[in-house]
Amino acid sequence: MRPDLLNPLFAETESLDGVGPKLKKPLEKLGLTRIRDLAYHLPDRFVQRRSIADLDDASVGEQVVVPLTVIEHRSGGSTRAPYRVMAQDAKGNVIALTYFGRASYTGRKLLPVGEKRWVAGKIDQYGQMLQIVHPDQVEEDSSAAMGRLLEPVYPLAEGLTQPRVAGLTHQAIQRCPDLPEWIEPGVLAKHGWPAWRDAVQRGHAGPDGTARDRLAYDELLANALALMLVKADNRQRRGQSLQGDGRLRSKLQLPFPLTGAQRRSIAEIEGDMAQQAPMLRLLQGDVGAGKTVVALEAMLLAVEAGAQAAMLAPTEILARQHFETLSRLAAPTGVRIALLTGRDKGRARESTLMSLLDGSIDILIGTHAIFQDAVSYRNLGLVVIDEQHRFGVSQRLLLTQKGRRTPHTLAMTATPIPRTLTLAQYGEMDVSKLDELPPGRQAIDTRVISQDRLADVIDGLARHVESGAQAYWVCPMVHESENEDLAAAEARFGVLQARFGGVVALVHGQLKPDEKDAAMARFAAGEARLLVATTVIEVGVDVPNATLMVIEGAERFGLAQLHQLRGRVGRGSQKSVCLLLRGEMLGEVGRQRLALMRETQDGFRLAEEDLQLRGGGELLGTRQSGETPFRIADLEQIQRLLPMAHDDARLLVERDGGLASPRGEAARVLLYLFERDWGVQLLRGG
Ligand code: ADP
Ligand code: MG
Repeated sequence: MRPDLLNPLFAETESLDGVGPKLKKPLEKLGLTRIRDLAYHLPDRFVQRRSIADLDDASVGEQVVVPLTVIEHRSGGSTRAPYRVMAQDAKGNVIALTYFGRASYTGRKLLPVGEKRWVAGKIDQYGQMLQIVHPDQVEEDSSAAMGRLLEPVYPLAEGLTQPRVAGLTHQAIQRCPDLPEWIEPGVLAKHGWPAWRDAVQRGHAGPDGTARDRLAYDELLANALALMLVKADNRQRRGQSLQGDGRLRSKLQLPFPLTGAQRRSIAEIEGDMAQQAPMLRLLQGDVGAGKTVVALEAMLLAVEAGAQAAMLAPTEILARQHFETLSRLAAPTGVRIALLTGRDKGRARESTLMSLLDGSIDILIGTHAIFQDAVSYRNLGLVVIDEQHRFGVSQRLLLTQKGRRTPHTLAMTATPIPRTLTLAQYGEMDVSKLDELPPGRQAIDTRVISQDRLADVIDGLARHVESGAQAYWVCPMVHESENEDLAAAEARFGVLQARFGGVVALVHGQLKPDEKDAAMARFAAGEARLLVATTVIEVGVDVPNATLMVIEGAERFGLAQLHQLRGRVGRGSQKSVCLLLRGEMLGEVGRQRLALMRETQDGFRLAEEDLQLRGGGELLGTRQSGETPFRIADLEQIQRLLPMAHDDARLLVERDGGLASPRGEAARVLLYLFERDWGVQLLRGG
């Protein structure tokens, strides 16, 4: 149960003055649903205004506060035209205060003719006239205006204004209680960090690195602590020691020898599974590194030892593909493999569930449906989670493991994240790395091309398809709404279909599962030569004859994502090409990032360099793309503060594993504050 102390912070935003259903929507769009979210909605930056006596002293583009006397209101006539309030300064210089749409109501109300007001905003030029569009403040007395010469600039969504958001965060700050200190006193003193409530206040009041560091540190500490508790809890759980005799694995007839990295990883997994304590291991391997075979070996080992294994895939498509691949590879061993997804209903599903329970299924592959309550295993010994990063806060997933004995867990990911971020995402999970690609892979010829040359690209595509090969065409997810993205993908599909006819297939996230599968199946069978897709094909899909990948709006993707997409080609013996189409608006960093894609195919290197390149720059983008599990800490702070947070968390758990000391109690508050309370629940669940 959440400590009562935090209740005010978890009240809905609607409990604030002025927030009703209408304002709730845009707030939600920014992820602001509770008071806490608003308290943590820190400004992107601050504007500094200059106080001036009259407009002679102002320059265009400048942020000022100036006393003005209202002389006239000019309504625009039509509803579209702006509403202008004409005002003059002490010297008689005239300026228009311009309002569009509904905001004109504000202008009408706040600026009565003949009255003097202090107006804050940015000076613009409109024809010969000076103007301020939507003044940030209109105050009756100078002290109110002068008191706010430094103003925060908040991230906004449509339907919100700066003053609105500032007002709401202000209200939220008022509701922040004093919280007990969870940071180690030594750490706190060393950095001169303020107490939590002060830090929140200061974070909104001005550019204050110290306060923001503290808030970021809190988030990192909460995460590190929760991971540490998972790990500690896991250590105490009872699993089963699984030792295979190799009788099934020896029957495998793989068409290739395993790489050194694969053999090493399998040995590490074998070592873990032989222990009584449940394995908690991450298998990190670049796209195409051959993780599936490693998973198969581990699952066969479990079956040899008399247990069952389950493999969880993030999408229906991928589950199906794994089912087919693994059934084929494992055929000589005689193990019984089944597929279970959310689509299985009625008799078929019942029969699968029965067979799981009586042990006549050895290996189950599926989507999260395989962990629903109704699904019981006779003896589940191993859970493999493919493309772990797609499941959000990864550790929460590990808790879904039920049963008398905790199964061993092997999580697999192709996201080549930098080391610091690995620590952030997975804590001290044991890691096996497939850092060696199977031999004979050809480098993918990657080129960056301007979107202007679309026609040439399509001609090239035509030659490619005529030669008998297949291709992917990826449309970006860039717009505000999913529908717009979809429209863009459908438009591109239309264009390509007009040129290539019936050999073009389209997949996107809003298709019904059968339609999606049907399209994928047509492509995999070679009936469709060209697959137009949104990023749903990002993970796992394996069609060796597809040797051309076109990615539109490449600059909009994270490098890790581009790398994953590119990994869909270069899977067969033919030379593959990846064309990155870039828009016109490409900054220096954007240019360098795409150049990096051209230069290397090493996912880990891409990840490290991307981090370097972006440095503190594109933090927002990173946060939104879900590359890190953090909302407050940015990449730079993660790199700088995470190791310390990690050590701090470890110390705390070593000294007070039950979080029972006063500082431990405070740490519980912290976990709830960041909704890492699954960490706390472990303390009781045991
Ligand atoms: P990922 O790590 O991306 O999941 P996969 O397991 O899908 O990669 O493997 C990619 C391809 O490489 C598959 O076609 C697989 O059969 C092949 N492969 C896996 N291991 C080897 C190996 N040791 N030698 C050659 N090919 C391999
Ligand atoms: Mg895979």
